[in-house]
Amino acid sequence: MAKKLFIPGPVSVAPEVLDKLATPIIGHRGKEASELQKSITHKLQKLFFTKEEILLSTSSGSGLMEGAIRSCTGKRAAVFSIGAFGKRWFEMAQSNQVQADLFEQEWGKATSAEQVEQVLKTGKYDLITITHNETSTGVMNPLASIAQAVKKYPDVIFCVDAVSSMGGSKIETDTLGIDICITSTQKSLGLPPGFSVCTFSAKAAARAEKVPFRGYYFDLLSLYDYIKTKDYQYSSTPSLPHMFALDYQLDRILAEGIENRYCRHQEMAEMVREWAVKNYSLFADSDYLSDTVTVINNTRNIDISELNKELGCRGYQIANGYGKMKDKTFRIAHMADYTIEDIANLLKNIDDILN
Ligand SMILES: *Cc1c(COP(=O)(O)O)cnc(C)c1O
Repeated sequence: MAKKLFIPGPVSVAPEVLDKLATPIIGHRGKEASELQKSITHKLQKLFFTKEEILLSTSSGSGLMEGAIRSCTGKRAAVFSIGAFGKRWFEMAQSNQVQADLFEQEWGKATSAEQVEQVLKTGKYDLITITHNETSTGVMNPLASIAQAVKKYPDVIFCVDAVSSMGGSKIETDTLGIDICITSTQKSLGLPPGFSVCTFSAKAAARAEKVPFRGYYFDLLSLYDYIKTKDYQYSSTPSLPHMFALDYQLDRILAEGIENRYCRHQEMAEMVREWAVKNYSLFADSDYLSDTVTVINNTRNIDISELNKELGCRGYQIANGYGKMKDKTFRIAHMADYTIEDIANLLKNIDDILN
């Protein structure tokens, strides 16, 4: 039996979207491929609220994260981390010999605009990375106030990891001044894993031109140049099946209405939080709760893997805590195409099993 995956990626995918993966393959250098990429680009520009270019990547989101910090750091990167995924960006910098400093926050807390301001005013940094929605802790960072701080430093390239939130929470990329906003297909967009997308501003492109060693496959400038000079094609062979499915899923997202989609995510989040507060407690700072994933303190010492086994028999799966928080917390994702009824059924089944 196929389980409904209430884990923070990969999520379950609608059958009609899965069908699109089986679309007959086209050549990747023809007009058809350009048209497909253009169609995806126009739809993603709506979802990201941007007029800048959209880069596609035949990789999961980590590829674009690595590409961003390597391709666009001139002097030094300031990496802000509030959990496992924030720190990943620092590890990527180090392994690519990109100069970077890590500014960590205790797990469960958010990055503050003041912190960002303190760091950027040293003048040492020309790129900053922020995790919008930290999937390991269930914290959603206050992007609007952080963006205000970053805007005071126009030489700084602003990179945002929106892997687990784009499509579930509103991010107005251009208004916020984000240069590179990254997401993967397997989270709030509701597609199979193996593909990712990001915005790429003209300012980011100008920076990358001054960075001599940008790598090869994840050289974001080469992806950008292919769009500009080869009429929206990909620099190597893209995963065309993902592109067909993405183009179709974006139609479904736009048909639902993106504002409606955000509301649905908020309602699902509120239902899970209410249930969690009643029965357990929330791990994240209550002022910065994520709309796409809730991390719950395991105050009743439940055996999470046992619970998941039982849930599995009923067609559901939730996630254990991330890394060092395994068994101390557990996580319920409420993203992509799930409905409020799906969430209600999941919670009823958990209660059922535990009573
Ligand atoms: C899942 C996730 C990633 C990693 O994305 P992949 O697509 O698995 O490479 C990065 N950041 C956050 C916040 C995530 O949730």
